[in-house]
Amino acid sequence: MSDASAKPEFTIKPNANPMPEADRLEAFKALGFGTLFSDHMAVMHWNVVKGWHSGEITARGPFAIDPAAAVLHYAQEIFEGMKAYRTPDGRVVLFRPEENARRFNESARRMAMPEIPEEVFMEAIDRLVTIDAKWIPEGEGSLYLRPFMFASEAFLGVRPARDYIFCVIASPVGPYFKGGAKAVKIWVSEHYTRAAPGGTGAAKCGGNYAASLIAQQEAVEHGCDQVAFLDAAEHKWLEELGGMNVFFVMEDGSLVTPPLGGTILPGITRNSLVTLLKDQGITVHERPYSFAEWQADATSGRLKEAFACGTAAVVAGIGEVKFSGGGFTIGNGETGPTTLKIREQLVSIQRGQTNDPHGWVRQIAGI
Ligand SMILES: *Cc1c(COP(=O)(O)O)cnc(C)c1O
Repeated sequence: MSDASAKPEFTIKPNANPMPEADRLEAFKALGFGTLFSDHMAVMHWNVVKGWHSGEITARGPFAIDPAAAVLHYAQEIFEGMKAYRTPDGRVVLFRPEENARRFNESARRMAMPEIPEEVFMEAIDRLVTIDAKWIPEGEGSLYLRPFMFASEAFLGVRPARDYIFCVIASPVGPYFKGGAKAVKIWVSEHYTRAAPGGTGAAKCGGNYAASLIAQQEAVEHGCDQVAFLDAAEHKWLEELGGMNVFFVMEDGSLVTPPLGGTILPGITRNSLVTLLKDQGITVHERPYSFAEWQADATSGRLKEAFACGTAAVVAGIGEVKFSGGGFTIGNGETGPTTLKIREQLVSIQRGQTNDPHGWVRQIAGI
């Protein structure tokens, strides 16, 4: 590396043609998820000789990459998902962003990609959110941030690439629960699995999602919203959804969530909920939970509620479960009170509406 000690910087090149304010405000009236994008992006390059270099905050636009770019052939790609919120008193805050930076580098190691210094990752986020602050919706919306990195070297041999592009894009998103907290319907895939021991289940890589899409398609064909995966070795233990972790609320007030162990993505939402529940003296068992147990507990009434969690949806109640052999309802099929309460607690911390006992919220200065 030319100068490993100098911190790589981002040159700021403001977009000369930002979206007119009237158009932006019009687009804000119908916010979905991941369809509208802000004016800028953060980009930085890495190669084996120079290390991280040529950082820019620049107009959002297409990349020119070679058709032989390694990512297009061997899927060396990782990503993160996080949100910037506007607080009631007008500050702009992030929720545990250093956890995203840390996990990004864990994913990078698993995929034999270069790590990015956490402070460079954070600076990309801070600068992008600052320049695109007007893209953070008021009220219940937020600015979804998508950091990602991919192998850009033009090379068809099989080895880790020698060139990468790191990028962050931003997308204003609306409240996930538009018509109130409607519970989701889950399809349990008994045939397809998401991650095997020794595989990439704990890395946030695009390949995991590519492999989950056929199961997600099966879920939709069966009238479900999301797919739940069982473990690859025994097809017995519940692991997680395609992009969210799961919790179960028991009759005795305790909760169960499958343990991390390499095949489950260690969700920051999951970790935060475990902490918030334990703070209140609620028992959370991180233990294997089988599909057979799930069916039996739902039928007997021992299981009161179930929910999925992740940055995009925050917390989503699970009302109904279907699988090839039948189906069952959880509780009355609606989002339950424990689910609603923990969601409210987390959301109010994330949005800076309440005190933040663990110091999870980080303000972006100077906005
Ligand atoms: C991102 C992700 C989650 C949720 O993680 P959060 O940090 O809570 O957003 C859960 N499962 C998978 C497979 C994911 O990719």
